[in-house]
Amino acid sequence: MKSLLSQGQWAFLTDLRAYLDGLDPALVEATRRENIEDPMQPREHGRAFLRRLGADGWLGVSWPREFGGQGRSPLEHWLFAEELYDRRLPNGLLTLNSIGPVLIRLGGEAQKRQYLPRILAGDLEFAIGYSEPDAGSDLASLRTRAVRDGDDYVVNGQKIWTTGASVATHLWLAVRTGSVESRHKGVSLLITPMDAPGITVRPIITQGGERTNAVFLDDLRVPAEQRVGEENEGWAAITAALNFERMFYHNEPRWELRQLVGWADAAGLLDEDTAAAHEVQTTIGELAVDVEICRLFAQRGARILAEGRVPYAEASANKVWWGELRQRICDLGLDLIGEDGTVAYGSEFAPAQGHLERGLRSSPVWRFGGGTNEIQLDIIATRGLGMTK
Ligand SMILES: Cc1cc2nc3c(=O)[nH]c(=O)nc-3n(C[C@H](O)[C@H](O)[C@H](O)COP(=O)(O)OP(=O)(O)OC[C@H]3O[C@@H](n4cnc5c(N)ncnc54)[C@H](O)[C@@H]3O)c2cc1C
Repeated sequence: MKSLLSQGQWAFLTDLRAYLDGLDPALVEATRRENIEDPMQPREHGRAFLRRLGADGWLGVSWPREFGGQGRSPLEHWLFAEELYDRRLPNGLLTLNSIGPVLIRLGGEAQKRQYLPRILAGDLEFAIGYSEPDAGSDLASLRTRAVRDGDDYVVNGQKIWTTGASVATHLWLAVRTGSVESRHKGVSLLITPMDAPGITVRPIITQGGERTNAVFLDDLRVPAEQRVGEENEGWAAITAALNFERMFYHNEPRWELRQLVGWADAAGLLDEDTAAAHEVQTTIGELAVDVEICRLFAQRGARILAEGRVPYAEASANKVWWGELRQRICDLGLDLIGEDGTVAYGSEFAPAQGHLERGLRSSPVWRFGGGTNEIQLDIIATRGLGMTK
């Protein structure tokens, strides 16, 4: 890795590591435990941790200086996200990596003043309200309706899979302002605080044990000034945010492979000269190559961002590779471990602390989260390879 980095990038990483090593160990350990338990929603310690980073100027690595960021390149932002993930610490997730950059590009001046400093302080957490029970892959068919009433919109409808809604401070909400037939040309994007009257959040627990939510919106009032972009032109904000989101999927496979290596090492299989050990060594070697490919996909996206472009097909390729690789590592890892591998996460007897067992249970949802892999393949074919539908 070192050789791929410029001197400046390497210096940045060295500074970051020194900074993280110097943080209060009790806060770091509490945050790490909380984040491993459910990485989809930073809670008490995660929020305190992000506030610490914000106060010390470490959030918004690639945000422009005029908005309070460090003004570095997306590659350094990627290094930041990877380093935090490697330590299993929150890196600001979608709020910092996806919503903030979209607000910088498409938000109004008042919205930038209202939200950007608080995101950088680690005070704000957005949940993403796009999907509905009958609008997932076909998001342009969403039905949650926003009707203009004076200076407000009145919103009614239901969202589903709204991850982090139970801990978020704000909701990034896609609504229909045009006719249903208008599809993506009749969608607007609103921001609302999660504690506004009319929002009800109900939990949905995934098979991996992580929490996501259903969100019900009943006569929710949102001031029109909280619309991002023009009425009926929210699609641009949604697609830009999704592309940023897909760029930041990359670190988990590396961590999961490390759990497998840890198990093999403890079992003495890394340097043993037997057929069984060779199978373990070969599998780990092949997976290690795939993990590096995952990192290269993410780096390529960061370089495209650095050129001022938005990665479309590249972000989709990254997401597909990442999701499938997570599942493959856990699947092959458990095959190698054998029947002991079925001992569940949470048991003291679970090999690799049960991380591979839980990883296998949770990885199928990532064929869906962030947009399904089938839809991503479609984007790669059309936008990336220029194929016609
Ligand atoms: C863990 C998790 C977290 C999530 N977090 C959020 C969140 O925070 N906010 C949010 O708004 N959403 C979130 N989602 C929702 C996610 O974006 C949707 O699940 C996804 O877009 C798919 O929609 P769907 O579930 O309705 O499935 P469907 O769209 O009904 O798809 C069902 C199946 O049909 C396939 N399919 C559909 N259309 C096509 C097509 N045109 N060509 C080929 N195959 C097709 C799909 O690939 C899939 O296999 C999350 C989902 C999960 C699982």
